[in-house]
Amino acid sequence: MLKIENLHAEIDGKPILKGLSLEVNAGEIHAIMGPNGAGKSTLAYVLGGRPGYEVTQGSVTFNGKDLFEMEPHERAAAGMFLGFQYPVEIPGVSNVQFLREALNSQRKARGEEPLSGGEFLKLAKEKAALLKLDMEMLKRNVNVGFSGGEKKRNEMVQMGILDPAFAVLDETDSGLDIDALKVVGEGINAIMRKPDKAVMLITHYQRLLDYVQPDFVHILAAGRIVKTGDAELAKQLEAEGYDEVMAA
Ligand code: ADP
Ligand code: MG
Ligand code: MG
Repeated sequence: MLKIENLHAEIDGKPILKGLSLEVNAGEIHAIMGPNGAGKSTLAYVLGGRPGYEVTQGSVTFNGKDLFEMEPHERAAAGMFLGFQYPVEIPGVSNVQFLREALNSQRKARGEEPLSGGEFLKLAKEKAALLKLDMEMLKRNVNVGFSGGEKKRNEMVQMGILDPAFAVLDETDSGLDIDALKVVGEGINAIMRKPDKAVMLITHYQRLLDYVQPDFVHILAAGRIVKTGDAELAKQLEAEGYDEVMAA
């Protein structure tokens, strides 16, 4: 589904990703862990096509197509979803408006009929219930005045509605209390744990991985994947720390 080969990227002329390679197949959940400043968020931004992140070498294909030939909205319409560490607030636009517009523009790009207001609300209610987010929150302006945990659950509702084939989730667990962590973890499983979908889960902590069990765990350090293992690797990191595990 996603094939990253020897990816190099820089911000303001400063190299951040330095030869990163990674392959994600349908049906797989990949956890990306690594020390602060390793380039994890940069990887997510590069995949999303955020301005200012310059790819200087290497390639990424998404379902066989050159990702860098696709505009960010084309990546989304092709089934890529990005969830960010710091979700944006959009004053003046309600969640419901925002999501219906996002979904229908993706459907249009795929040649599908738009959902009517009623159809959309039914879908939104179902996904909000899955993430235990009050429908009232969906009527409010996007993320404005939401707590950290509400933003993250809201983001998972967005993911449920857009129903992507591939999701990159950057620290979706940050700022969540124990109960919210469980709801978000179970939401990720319900939405994305399917044979035709895949997830790249960027996280600092093992605890989300107790709910969303990864097939692969990668350590990203200094802009490259330096070690790959299974769920045990995350447990070992939690117990021993990056320095010790990377030195081994
Ligand atoms: P991580 O998510 O693994 O903690 P990041 O990808 O956020 O790491 O950052 C990687 C490196 O890129 C860090 O050294 C960080 O300071 C630098 N960096 C990130 N964003 C910018 C930016 N907008 N301008 C300059 N340097 C940046
Ligand atoms: Mg960080
Ligand atoms: Mg980060």
